[in-house]
Formats: sequence, structure tokens, C-alpha cells
Amino acid sequence: MSAIDNLPPLREVIAKHQLSARKSLGQNFLLDLNLTAKIARSAGDLHGTDVLEVGPGPGGLTRGLLAEGARKVVVVEKDARCIPALEEIARAYEGRLEILQGDALELDVSAHLVAPIRVVSNLPYNVGTELLTRWLDPPKWPPFWTSLTLMFQLEVAQRITAKAGDKHYGRLAVLAGWRTDAKIVMELPPEAFTPAPKVRSAVVTLNALSEPRYPANARILKNVVARAFGQRRKMMRASLKGLRPDIEDRLIAAGIKPTDRAETVDIERFCALARTLEKP
Ligand code: SAM
Repeated sequence: MSAIDNLPPLREVIAKHQLSARKSLGQNFLLDLNLTAKIARSAGDLHGTDVLEVGPGPGGLTRGLLAEGARKVVVVEKDARCIPALEEIARAYEGRLEILQGDALELDVSAHLVAPIRVVSNLPYNVGTELLTRWLDPPKWPPFWTSLTLMFQLEVAQRITAKAGDKHYGRLAVLAGWRTDAKIVMELPPEAFTPAPKVRSAVVTLNALSEPRYPANARILKNVVARAFGQRRKMMRASLKGLRPDIEDRLIAAGIKPTDRAETVDIERFCALARTLEKP
């Protein structure tokens, strides 16, 4: 029996189902159920909430989420070897765990979840940023989720939560900071995982704001931020040169010096620039 439920410890589960970790699937498992319960708690009160978890693997975090009271957990797992292990959890928590086998980049999970919805995942490194970018840029705002609690390599977590002027500030920080409150809630050493990755990891929580922090057209903002950080060492007037003939005037109108570099321009001024670019 484990620390948080009546199911066997994860090492036994892994041995029984022969779940040797595969690098190609970004498999670094969390085997300490006290730790997975702690990560689940960092997502806030889960009672009365549906949770989407991408990449449950042998189910350590899944069990943490269920033990912490999630109304229902929907998991999406690509690796068919993990499904029998997850089915054992589903039997222990009758009616509260739904297992979807497939690629999270391709499956539409919306029909399986009821609001309020939180996303909590120890993401596979190879698809983590792509999924985050999609969740941060849905067709309409507010999105289907109220919060994202996600494990990343520490460096990616720093890029998500950075502020203007920080070394890690860039596209991801602007995208995240524009419509969420994002913060690192936990740091983990490599030894927390099996097998241990090379780098430290961190859990980031992003709470969706009901409205964007500053008004801007999402498409224009994304485009201007991508261009500005595409050449982050260049002055804004140079990196945005091809955008409009009068780009210097528009930068000034947005409170940005044409000689500023993208890494010093905060989200408020990027939004002001996006608004000036909407004008003919
Ligand atoms: N949640 C487990 C834990 O914390 O121990 C496992 C985390 S492991 C870092 C990432 C998991 O994502 C693996 O189980 C892997 O098979 C799964 N995975 C990888 N690519 C995926 C994809 N495209 N869609 C769904 N799951 C994926």
C-alpha cells in the first residue's frame, strides 16, 4: 500500500507492467507519491473541478490529483504500455478517471471535461512548449481552463515567468504574462525523477485572467512579438523595419524608443504597439 491510497507503490507498478522509461516519449517518472500529491495541491483546491492531465505515465501524478479530491481526471497518454496501469487506478477511483490513449497534440478533449477545468501535467519535454503555446492562444478568451499547473525544465519555467529586463524574457513571457498570472511554485532536483534528467525542473502555475491585462489584437500582438524577439539583440526599429514604413512613429506612439531592444519592452508597451499597428 502507498502513502496516499490503497494502490501499490509506483516501483511495483512499473515492474509489473514493465514500463522501462523511453527517452523518445520524454519519460521521466515521478515515483514519490507525497511529492505528486504536493504538486496536485499546488494547483489549488481540486474539489468540484475537472482536471486534464497530459502524459500520466504510470499514474503517480494522477493518483495525487485523485487523492487530493479532483471531481474527475481525464488523462491523455500516448504510450499504450501505460494503459493497463492506469486502468487499475480507474478501478480504485470508480467513475473519476477517464483514460484517453493517443497524442495530446491531436486529440480534442473538450467533450470529456466540464467546467471549471484545471490542467495539471508533468509534460513530456518534447511537446511541452507546443502544448503551452496552444493553451495560451485559444480561439477565444477566457479559455476552457482556469489554471495550468505544469512541470518544465527550470530554464523553460524561467522563460514563462520572466519580466521585461530579465535574461529569460521573451515571446513566451509576453504570451503568458498578457493573459495569465504566471509563477514558479516549486523547484525540483533531477533526482526527483526516474530516470533523472540532466537539468533541474520547476512547476509553473498560470492562472487565467478573466480579460487580457491590456487590450490588444492577439494575432497582431503575436506577430509583432515574434518579429521583435526573432532578432532580440537588434533595436526595435531594425527588427520591425519591414512591418510598416512609418514604424518609428508607431513605436514612439506606443511609448517605445526606436533604439530600444525587445528584451526591455514590457507587455503593456507591446500591447500599445499592437494597437497602433491596427490603425491603417
Ligand atoms: N506524469 C508521469 C509522472 O509524473 O511520472 C509521467 C511524466 S513523463 C515526463 C511524460 C509522459 O507523457 C510519458 O508518460 C509519455 O509517454 C507521455 N507522452 C509523451 N508524448 C505524449 C503525447 N504527444 N501525448 C500524450 N502523452 C505523451
